[in-house]
Amino acid sequence: MANTPKRKKNKVLKIVTKNHIWLTIVLCVIIAFYTALFVKLFSDVFSDYILNTKFMDEYEKVEYMSKLYDLNIDNNGENVYSLLNEEGRNYFISDNLGNVIYHHGEITMGENSGYISIPVSTNEEKKIKIYFDEETDGLFYSDEEGDLKPRPIGLLLFAVEFYEKSGIQDNLKKASIDLPMWMTYDVQGGKQTFNCRILFKISLMDGVFLVSFIVISVALVACIIVLLLVNMLNTLVNQKRLSKVFFTDPITRGHNWMWFSFRGEQLLKRKGSAKESYAVLDLVFVKFRNYCVCHSVIEGEEMLYRVDKIINQSLNKKEMAAHYASANFALLLKFKDREELRVRIQQIIDKLETIDKDHKFTFHVGVYVVENRKNAKGKPVRRKNIDIEREYNNACTARSTLEECDDSGIAFFDENLVEEQKWIDAVMERRRSAIENEEYIVYYQPKYDPKTNKLRGVEALIRWNSPDFGFKGPGSFIPILEKNGFIQDIDHYMITHVARDQKAWLDVGYECVPASVNVSRAHFSENDLAEQIRDAVDAEGCPRNLLEIELTESAFFDDKKAMIDTILKLKEYGFMVSMDDFGSGYSSLNSLKDMPLDILKLDAEFFRGDINGGRGEIVITEAIALAKSLNMLTVAEGVEFKEQVEFLASKGCDMIQGYFFAKPMPKEEYADKMNRKEGFEEKEETTISGEEPSEEKTVE
Ligand code: C2E
Ligand code: CA
Ligand code: CA
Repeated sequence: MANTPKRKKNKVLKIVTKNHIWLTIVLCVIIAFYTALFVKLFSDVFSDYILNTKFMDEYEKVEYMSKLYDLNIDNNGENVYSLLNEEGRNYFISDNLGNVIYHHGEITMGENSGYISIPVSTNEEKKIKIYFDEETDGLFYSDEEGDLKPRPIGLLLFAVEFYEKSGIQDNLKKASIDLPMWMTYDVQGGKQTFNCRILFKISLMDGVFLVSFIVISVALVACIIVLLLVNMLNTLVNQKRLSKVFFTDPITRGHNWMWFSFRGEQLLKRKGSAKESYAVLDLVFVKFRNYCVCHSVIEGEEMLYRVDKIINQSLNKKEMAAHYASANFALLLKFKDREELRVRIQQIIDKLETIDKDHKFTFHVGVYVVENRKNAKGKPVRRKNIDIEREYNNACTARSTLEECDDSGIAFFDENLVEEQKWIDAVMERRRSAIENEEYIVYYQPKYDPKTNKLRGVEALIRWNSPDFGFKGPGSFIPILEKNGFIQDIDHYMITHVARDQKAWLDVGYECVPASVNVSRAHFSENDLAEQIRDAVDAEGCPRNLLEIELTESAFFDDKKAMIDTILKLKEYGFMVSMDDFGSGYSSLNSLKDMPLDILKLDAEFFRGDINGGRGEIVITEAIALAKSLNMLTVAEGVEFKEQVEFLASKGCDMIQGYFFAKPMPKEEYADKMNRKEGFEEKEETTISGEEPSEEKTVE
């Protein structure tokens, strides 16, 4: 499977944050443990070997003396002792009770004892009890099994002392230490004990070998451990340096998004608490670009640095924040209830708003609450499937709902926003194919003369017959396309199709009435708009006077001069131009003053609710009168009731477009409402007054 950018990023993060400490420590402990074990085993085996072999000679001597004693004691009596004395050893014979029967030389036997095993034959070992001499008591000890074991340090000290005293450093190779001890041997069938002082000779080379072995082993291990530790420190320093490069934001000098996403995911994956939840926030410094333009980019970045600082100062334990990009910051906050969270965010905003004494800044915050996961018993469990980029994106979606808002604000994310976003994406994605496949359909809503009930005009209104989403009204996609700057294509599509329909109807003898097409204000930024319309209509062979252009009122705000120029040109080319939704904004009158328009369309809002006798009636009356005095025709939109029609007729309104007469309808249905010229197939004149409004296809 191909490496996705996310996977690659995670790989890099793993390298940066990998924890080498534990690995090194564990390795050191293992090495130290096995070395100690090895040294212990080796020194045990080695010292056993020395003890056993060295004692062998002495044992044979003692055995000989004991046997000599046993053989001669009964016969020779006194003579046996002189024989034994010839051996030149200190010895004594004791009875079962420990009483000394005879002794030769001083009895310097110590109290402590231990056994050594001596191989008496290839398969057999004999355990001999050894008493330490007063001189050597403490250099050995007996283990749990009673076996004699050396104390290396004691022996070493003893050796040093011994050599200092004896001064035989000259021939070190042959030098040895004499350790006096006492060996015992049962005589007289076990009734007596023969105790003989023996000299245990340890050659210096043996000692040196053992000690050097231990010292070298320990030194080697120490070296390995030191090397490992140095390597670990090195890695740690490098890791720190690397993570600084990876995780530091160059503008705020604080943490960056990489750090936030990595640590944030770790934090969120931990088991949550039942009482506390986390929220991912997107905080944006609104109009940051304006600030940079008015001041400088450097000053702007300095502001971001201060914002980052303030945000970070407002954080509690186990919360985090980082600069995302541009003027956006990502935050991860803990909270108990939403109201508390809202108050906290507001406090942060309050602090940020006054970050500079000369300005009051605006901040928008989007909040996405990360749900706590619970098990069947209602206890919190680890959150899986954490994708902090997705959560942050949701917070951004919530924040984007504040885009039109000039003040600071907080918006929480809810699932509908995802649906909305998906819909926006779908509309944007399909806008081209919808045009290519002619999925956009023109509906027509007739306009009638309220006095004569005759058809006088028609408005073309778009519908989207989407193979994926069904039949959609303009309210669900036109604002999206307008906002994202893709309405020009729609306007062009509608003009072309309406012109084509009009031409086709003319050709088959219909008495066509002017059809109005909505042109969005965004389109007016193009200064050749009038030419575009003219050429499109001409290309279809439709007379220009059968097309009317409806300008929405808000269009008038953009560039008044360009607007007037376009209107004049449109009129010059033979099109009628109308002002849509008159009365729905606040500068309608002002606009009327300068705009050379043909038709005024009264906004449908006038006809919502009761207009009788109220201020609405006065406004409508005056608006119609005003239009008349400016030589403009009037169209009342959204008229649904007979009384409204009668009222408008009495005030001289020229046309009515509303459900009372007809809803927007497909072109075939609309064609039926038109009259045919003489000579063409005769058709019944449409009676309209009071007829049931035609049913529009259900628009979703
Ligand atoms: P608009 O231009 O003000 O169109 C009039 C809207 O009022 C139409 O809604 C129409 O169906 C509705 N209407 C008419 N009579 C009545 C009535 O008696 N009662 C009620 N409740 N409504 C009535 P529609 O077709 O949904 O269009 C909505 C808006 O979408 C239009 O408002 C226009 O701003 C925009 N639009 C529609 N088609 C196009 C188009 O082709 N291009 C552009 N740029 N915008 C369009
Ligand atoms: Ca309109
Ligand atoms: Ca309108």
